[in-house]
Parts: sequence; C-alpha cells; structure tokens
Amino acid sequence: MSPHAELVSRLRAAWLSGKTRPTEYRLAQLEALGRFLDEKKQDILEATAADMRKATQLDSAFIRKDPYGVVLIIGPWNYPINLLLVPLIGAIAAGNCVVMKPSEITRNVERLVAETLPRYLDEDCFAVVTAGVEETTRLLENKFDYIFFTGSSSVGRIVMTAAAKHLTPVTLELGGKNPCYVSDSCDVQNVARRVAWGRFFNAGQTCVAPDYVLCSAEMQEKLLPALREVITEFYGPNPRESPDFGRIVGDRQFQRVQALLHSGHTAIGGQTDAEERYIAPTVLVEVQQDDPVMQEEIFGPILPILTVASVDDAIAFINARERPLVLYVFSSRKEVVKRVLERTSSGGFCANDTIMHMTIPSLPFGGIGQSGLGRYHGRSSFETFSHQRSALLRGAGRESLNTPRYPPYAPHRLPLLRAATETKRRATCLLL
Ligand code: NAD
Repeated sequence: MSPHAELVSRLRAAWLSGKTRPTEYRLAQLEALGRFLDEKKQDILEATAADMRKATQLDSAFIRKDPYGVVLIIGPWNYPINLLLVPLIGAIAAGNCVVMKPSEITRNVERLVAETLPRYLDEDCFAVVTAGVEETTRLLENKFDYIFFTGSSSVGRIVMTAAAKHLTPVTLELGGKNPCYVSDSCDVQNVARRVAWGRFFNAGQTCVAPDYVLCSAEMQEKLLPALREVITEFYGPNPRESPDFGRIVGDRQFQRVQALLHSGHTAIGGQTDAEERYIAPTVLVEVQQDDPVMQEEIFGPILPILTVASVDDAIAFINARERPLVLYVFSSRKEVVKRVLERTSSGGFCANDTIMHMTIPSLPFGGIGQSGLGRYHGRSSFETFSHQRSALLRGAGRESLNTPRYPPYAPHRLPLLRAATETKRRATCLLL
C-alpha cells in the first residue's frame, strides 16, 4: 500500500462530506492562509533567505490569447461530423493549424471528410489524416502543441500518455455512466418522454445519454407503463420499422451491447437482429450493482432501472462511482435538485431534462475525472485552443523607480518595495 494511501482516503472522506463547498468555508480557509502569511512573515523571510538568499505595479500588463500552434483533433464515430467540426471551429477561431483524425469506424464519413474538406480550407494549415489504431499510434508519436480527443476513457488514457512524452496539453472528452435520479415528486409522463428520448436517440450511442435510472420501487411501478407508452408513441408498435430509430454502428459493438441484455429482467423490448445490428429500445429491472450492464458505459438502447430508498441513497450510489460526464435529476421539488447538485460531482448537470444542457453555447461542455478533462462549446472552444499568454510591456526608462528592488537590500527601502508589489486584500502581504 502506498505510504500516503491513508492520507488521501482521509481527504477524500472530507471531500465527500461536502464541507469544502460552502462559500463561507472557502473564505475562512483563505483568511486562515492570510493569517499564516501575516504571523509567519518573519519566519518566511528568514527561511527563504537561508534557502535561496532571496530578499512590481507599473506599466501595461495584459493577457494575450495566443494560438497554441499545430493541434491534433481526434474524433469518435457516434456523431462523426459534429465531434470533429465543432472542435475544429474553436481551433480555427483561435488561430491554429489543425490535423484532423476522424474515426475509421464510420468509414463513409471518414472518406467524405478526407476527400472533400481540405478543398474548402487552406491546405497549408489544415489536413485530414485517415488512420486506424496502428497508424494513430504512430501519428501520436509526433509533437503537437495541443491534442483534443473525443472518445472512450481507455483510449483517452493512451492519448494522454502519448501527449505526456512531449508535455503536450490535452482536452479529453470522454464517456462513462451518466446517472439519472428520478424522485418521487415529478410528472411521470414528462420524465418518461425526456428520459426515453435521451436514452434511445441514435440508438443509445450518445455520450450524454442517461445510462441508468435510480428511483424508488414505487416510482419504478409508475415509470414502467409510462416508458412503454412513450416508446410506442415515438417508434410505433415495432421500433425496427421506425425510420427514427437507429442501428448499432458495427458488429463488434453490437455483440458487446447485446451481451448486456442478460442483466436483470427485461421489462420492455429486448428483441435483437444481428444481421441488421438492431436492438430494440429496452428497459431492464431488478438489476444488481454487479451485473455486467452496470460495469461499463452501455452506449446502446438499454435503460436499466435500479431502486434506491431515498435521495441520499441515490447520492451515495453516485458518489461511490467514477464522476460522470453528466448527472440528471428529475424532481418538481427544488430542494431535491439542489441537494443532488450540491452533494455530487460531475462534468455537467441537468435537472428535469436530458441532453439539452449541451445545446446551450454559453455552457462549457466537458467531463471530470474518468469522464474527461477540459471543456469546449461556444466561447469555451476558443479559450480551449488559446494559450493565455501573460504579457508585461514596460518602458525602457524611469530606471530610478527600479532602484528599491536591486541589491544591496536595506530596511529603509522596504516600504517602497512593498508599495510596488503589494496585493490588495483586507490586510496586505508581500509574496516573494
Ligand atoms: P474510441 O476511444 O474507441 O475511439 C476514438 C478515436 O480514437 C477514434 O478516432 C479511434 O480511431 C482512435 N483510437 C482508438 N483506439 C486508439 C488507440 N489505441 N490509440 C490511438 N487512437 C485510438 O471511441 P469511440 O468508440 O469512437 O467513441 C465512443 C466513446 O466516445 C464513448 O465512450 C463515448 O462516451 C465517448 N464520447 C464522448 C463524447 C464527449 O463529448 N465527451 C462524445 C462522443 C463520444
């Protein structure tokens, strides 16, 4: 066991208790840090002098949003155009050159993008590389100035490892299991429509789809008939014939999703057709935490329902797992929504709907922990692809103003030095 395991788990327990979240708590800790600096000022000065012999408000200071340089954008197959071009817009807006690597799984889109997109853009600065796993591994050996990756957490780790060799910064837009808590106080018909739409859209192959529902046994009893009704309303009596219901992208993915149908008991759907890669909109009940369907991101048209006794049970269930890309809560009681929002952590949060949070350009979109690193959409896309370069432009003259910072140091120069470098807060302190 690592020598610091106990320390880390102690801090994690404190984090889960929620104590660091109130604003008052943060202010109190910052004030305490300020007191440390005040009370230990002399000790700090002596210690830094002993270690390093170590004993500025002028001119023009600003942040310049600089392009990173040559960036690599790697896309997945589930929305192959959108998830390649939306980051591309940010990269171009920020002034970068871009290598795009679409998914090889959606080969028609890959071919279309590779053959036609470069004709529209400056080929000196924008290129499309078609590559499977092996070639992408080689591509990642190159030094890029930024890598923007959308895909699975396992490949995200591979990309980040490759980026680390060159100390290249990354954005990782990953997946995971998005919980959906349905409280007892809500309009069941509305919940069924919004959850079914989010889950079965694109045959469940959406990174922000609700992955599983947590609710009470009583709510499950009400939700099941409502879901059955809404699935028929959306896709007709036989969803296989609906032009609005999709298929699983490939045979390998079909086999994986089909295997997840064996968890719990099938309450709705469950039909499959390997030839067409069709899996009916399916709802599973009596699912256990250790069933296969709860071990990985489903990424298919299957919705397991797990029962919990209370909102606090749901919160504990969510907090015992990796932090999701998005957390959904359905409740007509504001205090329930607030409680879940305050006591959990996730990339995004959406109350009383699914997926819609990511359609608002002013909301940065991204994950946390296993569900990703960084954010984009709207202005955040521009920020992501820009380096915040701090710049100070000083005049070449007025050298007398600099005298206090040059050695030899003497106590009578301290007030002048302090005036030039102080950071304003309730009291002042000097950080050297
Ligand atoms: P994936 O990780 O298998 O592939 C993504 C990209 O990585 C593809 O271009 C692929 O060619 C490349 N790749 C695959 N293996 C590689 C390797 N070993 N080395 C280097 N590159 C490799 O993901 P996918 O199956 O295309 O997409 C599904 C996943 O993406 C799901 O987990 C989903 O949740 C996630 N996703 C996340 C978002 C988001 O915005 N957070 C959006 C869509 C999809």
